[in-house]
Amino acid sequence: MELLEKRIQADGIVKKGNVLKVDNFLNHQMDIELFNEMGKEFRRLFADKEIDKILTIEASGIGIACIAAQYFHVPVVFAKKAQSINIDGDVYRTRIESFTHKRVYDVIVSRKYLNSGERILIIDDFLANGCAVRGLIELIECAGATVEGIGIAIEKGQQSGGRELREKGYQVESLAIISQMDEETGTITFSHA
Ligand code: 5GP
Repeated sequence: MELLEKRIQADGIVKKGNVLKVDNFLNHQMDIELFNEMGKEFRRLFADKEIDKILTIEASGIGIACIAAQYFHVPVVFAKKAQSINIDGDVYRTRIESFTHKRVYDVIVSRKYLNSGERILIIDDFLANGCAVRGLIELIECAGATVEGIGIAIEKGQQSGGRELREKGYQVESLAIISQMDEETGTITFSHA
């Protein structure tokens, strides 16, 4: 998606450790007009899918998922990063290693909000090694629901998450796919499928 690529080129900052900082339009301040165009694009890319619900993970996926949901006319559920102490039996639970924070979170969704037979679209801000998306898939499968597709704003194609998920047969649609980032020069290169 050209609009998103241009914005990444203009405002993205390449940090150490293969991290792209996009705080001024996506991860902290949010550009809602851009999110709106992203939402329309997700609807177009998943036009042939019947979706009952969007699942994302807090915090940065929520804004993108909510704006996209207006085009799918479905509710959004976000998986919560929980303190293990508070986990009771009414939740589906998994563990997700955070790429940016280098720690493992217990992640939960209430059993009330993921149900058997529901057709789920996963949406998240970034796809890197795929831990977050794999965790969300696990929650969906625990509930007996199905993964209809995976919509990502920015995929870092130099990491293996996207390739592995596509090899498993999931429809992964990333609005911008980065092929290379250079932390010395700040250069960001995109790959076009
Ligand atoms: P994964 O689980 O696929 O390794 O990483 C995806 C998650 O880590 C996303 O939910 C996102 O919050 C975070 N993440 C991964 N790489 C980046 C990055 O380069 N920049 C930012 N801002 N977040 C990232």
